[in-house]
Amino acid sequence: MTETVVTRFAPSPTGFLHIGGARTALFNWLYARGRGGKMLLRIEDTDRERSTKEAIDAILDGLTWLGLDWDGEAVYQFARVERHRAVVEEMLTAGTAYRCYCTPEELEAMREEARREGKKRLYDGRWRDRDPADAPAGIKPAIRLKAPLTGETTVDDQVQGRVTWQNENLDDFVLLRSDGTPTYMLAVVVDDHDMGVTHVIRGDDHLNNGARQTQIYQALGWNVPVFAHIPLIHGPDGSKLSKRHGALGVDAYRAMGYLPQAMRNYLVRLGWSHGDQEIFSTEEMTDAFDLPQIGRSPARFDFAKLESLNGHYMREAADIDLVGEIKRVLPHLAAGAALAAKLTPDMEAKLVAAMPSLKERAKTLVELLEGAKFLYADRPLPLDDKAAALLTVEARKLIRDLVPALAALADWTSTATEQAVRVFAEERGVKLGAIAQPLRAALTGRVTSPGIFEVLQLLGRDESLARLNDQAVQGAVPATA
Ligand code: GLU
Repeated sequence: MTETVVTRFAPSPTGFLHIGGARTALFNWLYARGRGGKMLLRIEDTDRERSTKEAIDAILDGLTWLGLDWDGEAVYQFARVERHRAVVEEMLTAGTAYRCYCTPEELEAMREEARREGKKRLYDGRWRDRDPADAPAGIKPAIRLKAPLTGETTVDDQVQGRVTWQNENLDDFVLLRSDGTPTYMLAVVVDDHDMGVTHVIRGDDHLNNGARQTQIYQALGWNVPVFAHIPLIHGPDGSKLSKRHGALGVDAYRAMGYLPQAMRNYLVRLGWSHGDQEIFSTEEMTDAFDLPQIGRSPARFDFAKLESLNGHYMREAADIDLVGEIKRVLPHLAAGAALAAKLTPDMEAKLVAAMPSLKERAKTLVELLEGAKFLYADRPLPLDDKAAALLTVEARKLIRDLVPALAALADWTSTATEQAVRVFAEERGVKLGAIAQPLRAALTGRVTSPGIFEVLQLLGRDESLARLNDQAVQGAVPATA
């Protein structure tokens, strides 16, 4: 019988869920979901000063937004401190760990010396075999792993391949600090073991920790999980990812108007490939995802690619769903509350009707909302500079003269309004564009919008005529008209 796959995502809640963390979570999720396994969530909140409730909430919220669910309740590492201590106690009894009474000054001197002599081991093991009877009074010991002095420690990494460390270069590192707090190294091993984790997929900045953790597993006689250390994400120029390059919290991507499914698709391709395929449904990525196809060199973040993927997902989305996404993003936008107040059922229906043409022009939900602004703008409409320049006195007169013809229409459809405007243009001997552009300016406040007859239909008769009247030169219609 094959073992059930159990992965975990183990963020430290000292900041938001950044893009690299989101990708790690996605890889763990895909690996588990594709194998009928489980993905667990462990919040590594042992750094009491830097771990915050806001960061925990942001992580949970970010995962939920991305659609990455975890099995069971999240585990909080700090709550398991007694168990961590108990394991260290067992190790002391078994002789695989020992008490070290070095003072901070002694340790500093030791490090200095090691550095001077170019040694990789910073701790010289002086309490390793010393008689506990030598223990100085009044000093609380730290507890260190009695690591093997010779031989090798090997990690058969699913991404990095077989990586080997000479044990003589690895320290007897600390498991439990003298103040009784467990180190990250120990806590991770105990938790992964107790949670039944079979696969540890995480950033390759933890590769060296993989060797140390392997030593702890071996000291405890526990099975070592499969490791997969994935390369970090770099900026487009190959440098470390900076904010400008996209090293942002997942919440920032939501506020920029990216769809979670586009984000997932973008993230899965950051460092992993499946032939030349770029677009993956969730099912396709769960089926295809595997560790050996993760590249060993850092992935490069590319905003343009994310944008174009997002545009793709927006065009594919059903209009009603897109409006749903707009509603979901509003609470995360600065102007969101004002907009939300305008989203009456009638306005929602208008938005849905406008989606087919708006989504062709937009790459993000924010651009989509921007394009839809004319629908929910208040009268009298503010005009942008180009629109204002178009609305000359002549143009305003044309609008004034056109209004009665439009008002007389029995049907308010794009076909009917188009017909009326064409007849009017012919009567006046002007080109259609000479009327259409001022109409657009008066109806939308801009010089670009969906087709003008579609705009008229979307706005409806009353709103359209009111907007046109707002901009028309007032006064009597000339007798010749
Ligand atoms: N808490 C660690 C981090 O956020 C991850 C530990 C692990 O995955 O083993 O970097």
